[in-house]
Amino acid sequence: MRNRRKGTRAGLTVAQENRLDDLARDVCMIRAGAALVEDEGRKQWWGACQRCRRTMWLAWCHVFTRGAWSVRWDPDNYFAWCAGCHRMMDQYWEKKRDFTIERIGEARFSALKMRSNGTRIDYAAVEIMLKMERAAMGVNDGGGA
Ligand SMILES: [Zn+2]
Repeated sequence: MRNRRKGTRAGLTVAQENRLDDLARDVCMIRAGAALVEDEGRKQWWGACQRCRRTMWLAWCHVFTRGAWSVRWDPDNYFAWCAGCHRMMDQYWEKKRDFTIERIGEARFSALKMRSNGTRIDYAAVEIMLKMERAAMGVNDGGGA
């Protein structure tokens, strides 16, 4: 559900936060091979869950909580999972950690864990990085700043 909060958090406006969320979600879903389905302006993604491989509606799921601002948009910190896997992985940290290490390797997982400890990040640089990631997968920016 879209956040209706007003004002800023972690030095970001709601609009900036939503833009980065949308970009990172795109990167996550395109990487997973999911298809975008737009229904009355609402974007949803349909594809194979990266854990159970069943074709379902997918959610943007974080390894370290999305409340960890330093890694909220970090491409190593999220996967496209179905609702069932998302719930299960959030309940069993060991499984989530093992899955992530299997995907990105021990070294990248360790680096991600360190970055999750409140490292200050440059939001403008994050936005550029996400746009480049998305473009590298063959999706244009579509204009917009
Ligand atoms: Zn699943």
